[in-house]
Amino acid sequence: MITTKDLTKVYTSRGRQVSALRGVDLHVREGEVYGVVGTSGAGKSTLIRCVNMLERPTSGTVTVDGVELTALRGSEHRAGRELREARRRIGMVFQHFNLLSSRTVQENVELPLEITGLDRTGRRRKAAELLELVGLGGKARAYPGQLSGGQKQRVGIARALAGDPKVLLSDEATSALDPETTRSILELLRTLNQELGLTVLLITHEMDVIKSVCDSAALMRDGRIVEAGTLTDLLADD
Ligand code: ADP
Ligand code: ADP
Repeated sequence: MITTKDLTKVYTSRGRQVSALRGVDLHVREGEVYGVVGTSGAGKSTLIRCVNMLERPTSGTVTVDGVELTALRGSEHRAGRELREARRRIGMVFQHFNLLSSRTVQENVELPLEITGLDRTGRRRKAAELLELVGLGGKARAYPGQLSGGQKQRVGIARALAGDPKVLLSDEATSALDPETTRSILELLRTLNQELGLTVLLITHEMDVIKSVCDSAALMRDGRIVEAGTLTDLLADD
């Protein structure tokens, strides 16, 4: 469902070059919850941002659901039509939720639906369904500032599901949450994985997150995957 081949990313920052990815081959199967774990600076964010082309890799290929994204035209800021369409089918969840504080919960979830051609009633119905799905049916009219961290992340997840993605990318989605809330969000991801057949790629610096939800995982260090496999295999190696 998600494949990267020999992916590299070199940033130039104040004249200095930083190799964030040094030849990453990732293979995530359909229907898996796949985790990438590593310490800060390992390249996890860069990898996940390359998978949805928020960042264009320096070299190598990214294929999601049969579409080679790296072959499509456009930059991260000015994506071409095909890339925009492909991206709409990739949901993304962020550590700090990235909700608009001046919009209600309902409006936050409706936002990505505005470009789909769905009319107002359709958008409202779809957003209501998604909020129900993530357990926030009663909070449609609330503002993000009135919600707990876990509730905000549920809104972030509902918004990520608006484009009916086959793939959900999660960038440290539970890192800002307490352990109990973390558990409930991971359970929600697992439920969505099972009920919608959603493939989930998550990055985390916490091995506990990997152990509690992932089917497979990769360990990243210094821009490389140093170990990868099913959780059973990885834990047997220790
Ligand atoms: P992680 O998510 O594992 O913490 P990152 O992908 O954020 O790792 O970073 C990998 C390396 O790339 C780090 O050395 C980081 O400083 C560098 N890096 C990340 N983003 C940029 C950027 N926009 N410009 C320059 N260097 C960057
Ligand atoms: P996190 O580890 O929570 O992802 P970071 O502080 O690593 O957050 O990165 C926040 C943003 O800054 C990201 O967009 C990343 O690409 C960028 N960034 C990270 N490291 C650098 C760097 N050395 N120079 C410039 N931008 C960077």
